[in-house]
Formats: sequence, structure tokens, C-alpha cells
Amino acid sequence: MYEPPFWRDRDRNERLAATECSSCGYVSFPERREVCKRCGERGEFSETTLEERGIVQSYVVQNRLPEAFETPLPLAVLDVPQVDANDGEGTGSEAGDENAGEPARVYGLFTETDPEAMEIGMEAEAVFRETFDIEGLPVHSFKFTVPRGESR
Ligand SMILES: [Zn+2]
Repeated sequence: MYEPPFWRDRDRNERLAATECSSCGYVSFPERREVCKRCGERGEFSETTLEERGIVQSYVVQNRLPEAFETPLPLAVLDVPQVDANDGEGTGSEAGDENAGEPARVYGLFTETDPEAMEIGMEAEAVFRETFDIEGLPVHSFKFTVPRGESR
């Protein structure tokens, strides 16, 4: 099985670190903010971690892009839940939802995905891939892909 060279950096890379506004709960990813994009508070932000999966809310398929990109390339807006929101997963308790935290709205590229398989409401998995390189230095970032065996 192919094991990507960045695998050993997984601890550092795999977590989708985001920040959550303490005033309104808006989750900002990936950028770090000093002022909340939604409520405008220059408040406190706590760090939170996102699940490595999300639900597609909207998408487009790009056909014309710079040479460095594979086309056609699906781009999507996804809701990505916070890890903490699912504490004690499987208990079925949705009671404490107010404190559960809302999902982050993430804009993401897809990879290894048939554009025909794109669907609003589908689940996608976050994976780490080399997105582009700057002067020979590869930059690893996350992309989304359809979980294997789950495409319809
Ligand atoms: Zn806010």
C-alpha cells in the first residue's frame, strides 16, 4: 500500500486546528482571527479541533485552472464538525447541544474525486496532500475526498 512521505508528519499535520469565538461560537478555519468575522467582537478565541470529515453544503467543479492543478477540480463549501462536539460519541445524547459547538464552514479542494460523484449533503473525508510547491518546497495542506467505497 502506498504510504505517502508526509505520513510521519501526521501528528503535526493531521489535526484541523480552528478557533472558536467565545462570544457567538463562530468557528474560524483555517485562519486565525483577532476580530470575529460574524459578530465583530474582538473577543476571546479558544482553540478547537475539527473532525477529519465534513458535509458538502455547496460545490462547483472548476475546469479552467493554472497548470499546477488537476482538472476538472471540485471545490466545495463544507460544514466540518468540531471534535469536542461529539464527546462521548455514540451515546445518542444531543441534549447539551448549546455547548456542543457549531461546525466550521470550510472551503476546500477535492482530490481523487470523480466530479460526477459530487453531491450536496454527501460526507467527505479530509486528507493531507501536497497542494503546490513554492520554489521546490512542497506545501502540504488538507483536501477532501470521497471516502473509499462510499461513492455512489
Ligand atoms: Zn463571534
